[in-house]
Parts: sequence; C-alpha cells; structure tokens
Amino acid sequence: MSDREHRAGYEEYGEYERGRAKRQKRGGFLGSRAFLAAVTVAIYATAVVMLFVFSKDLGINIKAEKEATVAQNVLGSPVYPDDYTMVRKTSEEIHDGFLTLINNENACLRDGVELVNLSESYNETYKISDLVMQANRTTVEHMNNMFSDFKKAVGDNDVIISCAYRSMALQGELYDEEVEEKGEEEGAKWVNKPGYSEHQSGYSFDLSLIDDEGGITEFDGEGIYGWIEKNCEKYGFIIRYPSDKTEITGIYHEPWHIRYVGEVHAGYMKEYDLCMEEYIELIKGYRVEDPLEYRDVDMNDWQIYFVPASKSGDVTEVPIPKDRQYEISGNNIDGFIVTVKMNT
Ligand SMILES: [Zn+2]
Repeated sequence: MSDREHRAGYEEYGEYERGRAKRQKRGGFLGSRAFLAAVTVAIYATAVVMLFVFSKDLGINIKAEKEATVAQNVLGSPVYPDDYTMVRKTSEEIHDGFLTLINNENACLRDGVELVNLSESYNETYKISDLVMQANRTTVEHMNNMFSDFKKAVGDNDVIISCAYRSMALQGELYDEEVEEKGEEEGAKWVNKPGYSEHQSGYSFDLSLIDDEGGITEFDGEGIYGWIEKNCEKYGFIIRYPSDKTEITGIYHEPWHIRYVGEVHAGYMKEYDLCMEEYIELIKGYRVEDPLEYRDVDMNDWQIYFVPASKSGDVTEVPIPKDRQYEISGNNIDGFIVTVKMNT
C-alpha cells in the first residue's frame, strides 16, 4: 500500500468516525434507535427482494415437477435410425404444405390448395365480403373455430373476411395498381408481386370490419379485436407481418393478414416472438438426430426437424419415427419440415 493510498484509507476512516460522532451528538438513544430502524428496514427490504427472486425460481421448480409428471406419459424417444421408417418425397413436394414460406424471394408455386367455397363452408360467426370467395379447407375449418370462440368471448362483432384465396391474375392487377400509385420500391412493401402472394395458396386471409352502412373499413386489431392477435396461435394462425419484423418480412405491418401454419408452429412462433422467415431459418438448424423439442401449452411434446431435399436425385427419403403421429411440409425453399407428436 502506497503512502497516498494509506492516507486515503485513513481519511475515509476519519470520515466514518466523524459521522459517528455527529450521529451520537445528534441524540444518543434516539439516534441509535433510528439507526437500528434503518438497519431493520434494510434487512426487511433485502428479505423481500430475495423472496421475490427465489419465489420465481420456486415457480420454475414447481412447473418442472409438474412437467416431470406429465412426461411419464411420453413414449420413449425413438433412436435414429433403428426406430425410423423412410417416407419418400419428390423435389416438387418442397412446395407443398402449411409451412411453405411464401415471400418476395420464394414464389407460391401452388394455385389454390384444396379450395372450398366459403359461402358453403363458413360457420356464420363472421361475415364474408364475396359469395364466390374461396380458401383452403383446413384453413377454413380453423377460421370457423377461431371466430366461433371469438364470438363467445366478445359477443357480436363486425369482422368480415375481405380476401382469402386470390388468383395470380388478380394479384397482378393489385400489384400494378399499387406500383402505379406508390412507385415500384414502395409499392412492393404493400402488395406482393404476382406469384409471390400467400393469398395464392389459400392459406391466408385478410380481416376487415363492416360498418353500420355496410361499408368495409380497415381492421386495426384494436379494442375487442385485440383478442385475435392474442389467441390466433391456438387455432394455428399467425399475424404474418408483425410491426417489428418489417425488415425481415419486407412487408409493412398488416394486422389484418392472417396465415395458417398449424397450432404447433404458430404456438412456437408466438412464444419465441419469431416471424415465419425467422422460424423457417431456425428449423433448418435442427436435424432428425438432434431435433427441436417443444412442449406446447396443452403439455403435448413435439419434435420438429428439417430434412434437406436430396441434391443428387429427385427423391428425398424423409425419416419418420415408427408409430407416431406426424406431419411433413415442404419449406418452399430447400427441404422438408417434419413435426412429430411425442406423447400419446
Ligand atoms: Zn393479405
């Protein structure tokens, strides 16, 4: 310790001593009682903070215990490759399925998948703007469930589907109009190029609101309509273009544009705040030997993994664990995403 440090230490000590002298001078017993009170408060405050911190840990522990109980019903993990069987997929099939990523880089190569007429298939818990409107069968089934629960939750409401399946030709007209109005660069951030719209698949739809005069107004997701953003993942839907992901999606926030991807994937994206581009990229990092493991809100266990499309031939062998419930979807880029239910 140098001289100066020594002196500094001494001066601090001197400060402390002087402080103590002051406190004592200020009022003997009262002073020390106040000091005691301050110490007591400090101890209590620390205890409260510690309790808060530990109770959080405790919460996690309780949850982990619960999970362990449920996990007993989970079938043993399949061992690759012994417990797997191969499903053959052609390279064309990377463009099929609910996880096909459709954006300005990845064209929609399917024109309307399993379309049904909404006028015959919708459950009238919402309205449709057009009697010839069509959408994908599974998507409509999930829309019916969602809007029926929405109605139960909020009562009568003004939701109307203003767009579902849209042909490439109609998309072309919309795109041209937008570009004419806003210029090519800006226009492309509002309307997808023809051939690059999700609406062409039939998996997407746009919500609007109907006003008292029967006019159609923009859906902003505010007020009672906030329920949809909050709950849509339970029905397999995502808000495809969130406000904080414009840089990734390339499309401005569209609270009205909803895309069906299935409950497991919508749940994951919601829980980890991922847009579809981010999710598809994430999945590419998980292979059959080391899959993404996910437990959904209903305590179902899932494994999700990516199988790259074969580069040497037209057929890809996709490994699937034997005797499990599974789904295979192309990612519309370079391979297949497998979703396997791990519990009974
Ligand atoms: Zn849309």
